Amino acid sequence: MVSRVIPVDAFDLVLFGATGDLARRKILPGLFHRFVVGQMPQEARIIGSARSAMARDAFVALTRESLLEFSPTAREQGEALERFLETINYVQVDASGEEGWQTLAKALRAGTVRAFYLSVSPSLFGPIARNLKEHGIATDQSRIVVEKPFGHDLASARVLNAELLQNFDEQQIFRIDHYLGKETVQNLMALRFANSLWEPLWNATHVDHVQITVAESLGVEGRGEYYDRSGAMRDMVQNHLMQLLCLIAMEPPSKFTSDSVRDEKVKVIEALEPVAQSDIVRGQYRARDGNGSYRDHAGDPNSTTESFIAIKVNIGNWRWAGTPFYLRTGKKLRARTSEIAIVFRDPPHMIFPKMEGRRGNAMILRLQPDEGITLRNTIKEPGPGGFRLAEVTMDMTFADALTQDAAPQDAYERLIMDVIRGDQTLFMRGDEVEAAWAWTDPLIEGWQDAGLKPAPYDPGGSGPEDSLMLLHREGRRWREIEE
Ligand code: NAP
Repeated sequence: MVSRVIPVDAFDLVLFGATGDLARRKILPGLFHRFVVGQMPQEARIIGSARSAMARDAFVALTRESLLEFSPTAREQGEALERFLETINYVQVDASGEEGWQTLAKALRAGTVRAFYLSVSPSLFGPIARNLKEHGIATDQSRIVVEKPFGHDLASARVLNAELLQNFDEQQIFRIDHYLGKETVQNLMALRFANSLWEPLWNATHVDHVQITVAESLGVEGRGEYYDRSGAMRDMVQNHLMQLLCLIAMEPPSKFTSDSVRDEKVKVIEALEPVAQSDIVRGQYRARDGNGSYRDHAGDPNSTTESFIAIKVNIGNWRWAGTPFYLRTGKKLRARTSEIAIVFRDPPHMIFPKMEGRRGNAMILRLQPDEGITLRNTIKEPGPGGFRLAEVTMDMTFADALTQDAAPQDAYERLIMDVIRGDQTLFMRGDEVEAAWAWTDPLIEGWQDAGLKPAPYDPGGSGPEDSLMLLHREGRRWREIEE
């Protein structure tokens, strides 16, 4: 397969929080990679901005250091690296103050697409949006990109939306969820809507249940205090897992435009049924082998925040009534892996001898570590000696199916190029975020009001025992968490 890289037009990208962790690990390396493959033109400009005073040379040196540390190819791309660094500038701005905005305005070119990437605390979204507008920096050709967390609950998400909307139109606001930039996730849409094979099966008549797992092997060390204010539900379910659920469950949009796709996603969120507390399992990892517990890392010996959550979700519409979606995510689990499993129903009548351990047909969409899609089928076990069944998987691993050039790009780089092109399909619309919080808030209030505490679980496993029971009690089981 031949890859086609279509360069975007020249742009000015202002990266607020340019000295921070996310900018250094993801955003700058992502831009560099797009530069190397020829998508980001030499005429583009990246203006790093932060509160610290720093000369251009110092920021260029910091960028070089970040790329050598976090970009797998920077070392072999010395010449491209130097050319990329020519596109870099730095302007000191205190986002909540008055200093620096005029200098920033002067650093930008007229008539060029402007992207403002807010890789800063959400408390600065409002002040930055306001200052960009008041200082005449935000033009009609501008886009503003905001990072998660987008709110802590419905009320705070509404405030953030209102602050952004006072200064930018919804068409200019790009709320990033990097899960949507993953190749597999976009392929889910291609599989569903570019093939006639799957759509007839994509409903409660044929799908027994869906599992969405986002497992991490690390704990919350280093960011325990921040995490303790959110927990797995707010940090992962309300955004990432919800987005994945929407893409699986949504109706086919009539067009592949950002609003058609997002309209369908909002309908799914609005169709989610309230969840009983008995369908929610929350957990907190214990200490083991000299490694601290969640509570040690959170710095609160009485914390009741969950580092693991599993939820059974029902979608109240014609397509999905009777097909539960099981979501699970957690820290300190056996492996770092993210996947979606669409598990199909058994044939209505089986003519072959019972096969021990048969799991049945499933489509597994793997998001990490290796992106790809596999299909589990039942076949006859090869060879003589009776008619026995075996399960095999058909593999659609992207690294094999595509050329080197087209190998999956990091989600961030794909999404940043979409921002420059003004394509919002893979970004969350304001009403979508609010709908997700409107579903999430009562679940959190439910366990808080009932004083429910998370169950302890051992690190390195698959979470609390009760999470397994969530499926066992209905004759189902989770897929193993493994690399
Ligand atoms: P970080 O390492 O703490 O960096 C924060 C950046 O913001 C620094 O460049 C800092 O510059 C700048 N900043 C702080 N106050 C400022 C002000 N008043 N005016 C101008 N600049 C200011 O944070 P991060 O980890 O990169 O995260 C940035 C945002 O992305 C956060 O909202 C975070 O929740 C979100 N996020 C992060 C990750 C991740 O992997 N790190 C993942 C998803 C989402 P100075 O040092 O000069 O003050």
